[in-house]
Amino acid sequence: MSLVTPGEPIAVEEEALPAGGAYISRDGYVRSMVTGLLQFDKYRKQVLVKPLVRRELTLKPNSVIEGVVTNASEDVAMVKIYASENNMRFNAIGILHVSQVMDGYVSAMYDYIKPGDVVKAKVLNSTPPYLLSVKEPLMGVIAAQCSHCGSTLHLHPSGYLVCRNCGRQEKRKIAVGYLYVLR
Ligand SMILES: [Zn+2]
Repeated sequence: MSLVTPGEPIAVEEEALPAGGAYISRDGYVRSMVTGLLQFDKYRKQVLVKPLVRRELTLKPNSVIEGVVTNASEDVAMVKIYASENNMRFNAIGILHVSQVMDGYVSAMYDYIKPGDVVKAKVLNSTPPYLLSVKEPLMGVIAAQCSHCGSTLHLHPSGYLVCRNCGRQEKRKIAVGYLYVLR
């Protein structure tokens, strides 16, 4: 077996026909469709390219993710990551520790990050579960809902979040670029 890449000629039409992972191009060559291992069945005159299993995508330190907070205790928030940079779809679990919320003392996570919040965060490590940080100004909550009525919270010019439905004011670690701004 040998490794072949997409488009690589692996046989001529007269020698063998593609049985999978290969095609016949107009010039009469059997070419590979994928990166994989070539299996040449001379007896049946067939070629098969078995695709290499794609390596699982992983995040790199300092990459930026978006996710939804699934729960928040005093020390830790769990984040369901749904996207990485460049809007690439990505599913993984992230963990935000209270020490990574902001510089200075944070008494309790849930004063700054609450379940249901959409957060933008920086990744600190390279293997799941991913450790996250929202310390930087661009990181933090980008969308949040009112704890009282569930309506979207809007950013007030003085820096707190306000519910347009019930008037409740709330605090978060708000990211520059919070999506809903009161005007
Ligand atoms: Zn409300």
